[in-house]
Amino acid sequence: MKRNFISELGEKIGERVLISGWIHTRRDHGKIVFMDVRDMTGMLQVVFIPGSRAYDKITDIRPEWVVSITGKINKRPEKMVNKDIATGNIEMEATEIEVLNEAKTPPFEIDKDTSGVDEELRLKYRYLDLRSERMVKNITVRHELIRFIREYLYKENFREIETPYLTKSTPEGAREYIVPARLYPGEFYVLPQSPQQFKQLLMVAGFERYFQIARCFRDEDQRGDRQPEFTQLDLEMSFVDQEQILNLIEKMMVKMVETITPENKIQSKPFPRITYKESIEKYGTDKPDLRKSKSDKKELSFVWIVDAPLFKYSKLEKKLVSSHHPFTMPKEEDLTKLDSKPEEVRAYAYDLVLNGFEIAGGSIRIHKRDIQDKIFDLLGVSEDEKLRRFGHMLEAFEYGAPPHGGIAPGIDRIAAILSHENVIREVMAFPKTGDARDAMMGAPSPVSERQLSDVHIKLAKEAEGKALKLSDTETND
Ligand code: ASP
Repeated sequence: MKRNFISELGEKIGERVLISGWIHTRRDHGKIVFMDVRDMTGMLQVVFIPGSRAYDKITDIRPEWVVSITGKINKRPEKMVNKDIATGNIEMEATEIEVLNEAKTPPFEIDKDTSGVDEELRLKYRYLDLRSERMVKNITVRHELIRFIREYLYKENFREIETPYLTKSTPEGAREYIVPARLYPGEFYVLPQSPQQFKQLLMVAGFERYFQIARCFRDEDQRGDRQPEFTQLDLEMSFVDQEQILNLIEKMMVKMVETITPENKIQSKPFPRITYKESIEKYGTDKPDLRKSKSDKKELSFVWIVDAPLFKYSKLEKKLVSSHHPFTMPKEEDLTKLDSKPEEVRAYAYDLVLNGFEIAGGSIRIHKRDIQDKIFDLLGVSEDEKLRRFGHMLEAFEYGAPPHGGIAPGIDRIAAILSHENVIREVMAFPKTGDARDAMMGAPSPVSERQLSDVHIKLAKEAEGKALKLSDTETND
């Protein structure tokens, strides 16, 4: 018999069907036993009545065992209908059951909301935490958001293109993860902080409309709710101005919220726009939370922050640094101030803020070599460094680079806010802990001496003795 998904059973009243899944709960009512059975599509109440073949096999069965059950789908009597679940008007009368696997008692109760459980424990047993109803919902909403974005952008003629993870440093302001290059002693790849340079080079290539659901890597000290790796909708367009990019993203966001999470309410449409300067003066921040009621998680207050300054002065480095990144285009009317008052130069740079969180940032880019050169000069990048780090960009600008711009909304934060979660870990299947560890896999972890010598690395004093002494046969050649 073919296995049925639980969500399909509403149409099978009176039929004999086979389901597979996990025992969610078990309730013994005198001689009759009720079990809720769970699969990826939902939950079904199964009744075991004395005398059936199935009944004789369930003595030991406990929650989280994996089973296949055959039985008849019946309509529940009127007063037994459970309006809280999709299959609340039906139940199965089991005739046969097969245990596919047993399960130990889980370290925490997964038939309840696990948000109160010690997070280290939840992350160590993430595959169990992910069985809980809230986590299933969060991961599903995230999936729906990504699917919506893809379909929306395909219709707008975007190409979905992958860019490399093993690459070279790109300046987005954070420390980078480096990967030793075994074939080139002393040299390293860098994991991308974002696909910024690749997407601009795709515009030079002529793709005109690119997007990618891109993983970004930033090795920052773990402040607040940050993750070493996170996901952005990375997007770039040619022959556009700021207005067109803002409009595209705004339309997509509105439709996405209204389609995927209609319980949320957008406070104002179109999204208000305020300048960076105004935001700082009026709200003391460039990420204002403009909700009427800050405790209402269903209220969504989007706001565009535009005209951000091109540079900031870094007291630490005692020089100008980019507010966004060095590829951002200065506003035309401020170009004359580049030398005299660089800190007053505004950029075609924009952030989308939602309920006090920056959920997207982008800019119109420089596409001419002389302006890009000039910006690097103002940032104090030496001629030598310019060529070494960005020679490929400067060169590309000399081969017919179109005007272009883009943006990168953060998927994790958007999913968290739309799911009414406070931290992005709650919408990621396998997040790192607050201090950047993978509690389930046990990463980071030492590697063997052999692996280190393969990639020409000797550990520094403070890390000495950490490498594993494995025999050669245990290492992966
Ligand atoms: N690459 C930028 C970032 O990660 C976004 C952009 O300018 O498109 O913040």
